Amino acid sequence: MSERWPGNTRCVVTLSFDIDGVSSYLFRNREFARFPSLMSMAEFGPSVAVPRILDLLDGRGVHASFFIPGYVAETHPDMVREIADRGHEVGHHGYLHEPPANLTPVEEARALDRGTEIIRGLIGAAPRGYRSPSWELSEDSLEFLAERGFIYDSSLMGDVMPYWVDAGAGHQLVELPIHWEWDDFPYFGFAPAVGARNAPSDPEVPFNVWKAGFDAIHETGEAFNLTMHPHQIGRPARLAMLDRLIEYMQTRPDVAFMRCEDVASWVADGTVSVPMRNPLRPEID
Ligand SMILES: [Zn+2]
Repeated sequence: MSERWPGNTRCVVTLSFDIDGVSSYLFRNREFARFPSLMSMAEFGPSVAVPRILDLLDGRGVHASFFIPGYVAETHPDMVREIADRGHEVGHHGYLHEPPANLTPVEEARALDRGTEIIRGLIGAAPRGYRSPSWELSEDSLEFLAERGFIYDSSLMGDVMPYWVDAGAGHQLVELPIHWEWDDFPYFGFAPAVGARNAPSDPEVPFNVWKAGFDAIHETGEAFNLTMHPHQIGRPARLAMLDRLIEYMQTRPDVAFMRCEDVASWVADGTVSVPMRNPLRPEID
């Protein structure tokens, strides 16, 4: 049995879905609002794919984490409430999917607070976790999150297990690391209008990569944090692949499917002990 996790838990799987909808394209260029084909491809995520994903998760009896930009949340209030009512986590994903690295500190703080208030208004609780749009934090992000009471971030790639990260000004945050290998976008991200030209992959390719990753962390007793985007993973053959992947993982012994916030709580309350890894701030001449 793993020495890392409590009880009979050998390894942890967190399924996470970033519901970008149209927000990421509109942040890049407001003119994309006049591209109905692009908008329809993006809107497929919240409008069509999310209900199918929720039914898939119910069918497998697992809970997941959904990171939702404030703009997508306020334009899909019933979806946000449905996600929470069905036992899933609602996390923060910016307001209009602004990568913090591209913002001034004032802009970043405003997007954080705006996104939080929208989610709080819909489900009655502030999000406890944050996933950075485009996975690019600014050098202020961790401190901003800690000051606002977030318990975890999920935007860094410094380990496979969760870790503590120095958030500055005496704060610490739990980090639930991600990686491009365990993300659907590199396999499926194709949108010529915005320059994304990854040839849509055979779903067996990410299935095999993710299954191999899961098998490896099942062996080592670590954490498998998978990121997906409903407008990508929600296509029919891809959803069938995800269902088959979950089915496979459930055949393996002592696998805990958890929401990100529950894993972060295990770290925050000391149930799980993990190292501190300071964010690298290289100094160069
Ligand atoms: Zn996103």
